[in-house]
Amino acid sequence: MDITHADLPNDMQAAIAKHTGEIEAHLIEVRRDLHAHPELAFEEVRTAGVVARELERMGITHETGIAKTGVVGIIQGGRPGPVLAIRADMDALPIEERTGLPWASTKPGLMHACGHDIHTTTLLGVAEVLHKIAPSLAGTVKLIFQPAEEAIGGAERMIAEGVLDNPKVDMAIGFHNYPHIPVGEFSFCHGPALAAADMFKLVVHGKSGHAAHPYAAVDPIVASASLIMQLQTVVSREVRPLHPAVVTVGAINGGIASNIIPDSVTIKGTVRTLHADAQDVAEDAIRRLCKGIELSMRVKIDVEYQRGVPALLNDDRVLEPVVDAVRKQLGPVIHQKEPSMGAEDFALMSQKVPAFQLGIGSGAPGRDDRLHNSGYAPDEACIGLGVQALARAAVEILA
Ligand code: MN
Repeated sequence: MDITHADLPNDMQAAIAKHTGEIEAHLIEVRRDLHAHPELAFEEVRTAGVVARELERMGITHETGIAKTGVVGIIQGGRPGPVLAIRADMDALPIEERTGLPWASTKPGLMHACGHDIHTTTLLGVAEVLHKIAPSLAGTVKLIFQPAEEAIGGAERMIAEGVLDNPKVDMAIGFHNYPHIPVGEFSFCHGPALAAADMFKLVVHGKSGHAAHPYAAVDPIVASASLIMQLQTVVSREVRPLHPAVVTVGAINGGIASNIIPDSVTIKGTVRTLHADAQDVAEDAIRRLCKGIELSMRVKIDVEYQRGVPALLNDDRVLEPVVDAVRKQLGPVIHQKEPSMGAEDFALMSQKVPAFQLGIGSGAPGRDDRLHNSGYAPDEACIGLGVQALARAAVEILA
């Protein structure tokens, strides 16, 4: 097929399908190699090396060492147009793999349990397909291979090091595989799609003493129990019911013996919200409830409230053409889904430029896989399908 004459939509559909078919076996090899060699946040040295080697082989201009282990490639279209960034994450998790697969992790205690190996490979495939059809492409595609998504810090550092400038990015597409969605299906969500994730640490200081003489002590355990129950009213009584929020206490530590009232108790938790007003209400309420407990129960509470990644905002100006492109390329396989209270640092890019994160089904037939699970084994067919969907999305949105 003469790609430079691929002006008709059907030609483009066939060209993308053909080019993807040609590289799919190689992509699966690359994915299995990355999977066998997982690396944690900001340690993706070998992974970045594989990415650079592959981009080099394709003849794609790229830069390494951005945000320590990040890689950025550039594909210049045959005609002028906007700059589209497509972002993949590269880091693994501190989980011991138990899949028993031949390409399972070779590193004890480390595993690609969130499929960032799939994402990295998918973006390499998108790169190769787009590079081949570059003459019929308008504008520029910036390929962002980001480190440290799990440790939350990679996107922030890449933005700080100018990944959205020079050339200035006009819009961005992110993507994530979802094993609860069958392979072959895709998902999208209008507006806020993933939550802002804040962390709090409350140290409740009392006065230690003999458990038999509580009147002579100030008990931080009873105060903490009371505080944790009051925290349950933040979502139920203070946040607007149509603005989703979660307040979860995930850790409570204090005391060592049954006959001692301890000096202090440490409480740690997370606040997840989709809307800024709910986030403000939750933080204010937590601080106020702590003041109330200080007054009513004689303790002192150190409040540490840390705002983490913001909510991921899907912009219809990017979402609509991408959804349309997926349908044109693969048929009616993309469905609207509900937002999730999970978080992801592509959100930081979505706060800077119009962005959309595409959900790519990776669930193998007959399996019930979960992300961040030691048995997670996605269907590798999601790579080729993701390549087709994202390559077509780039073509359409830049046109
Ligand atoms: Mn992930």
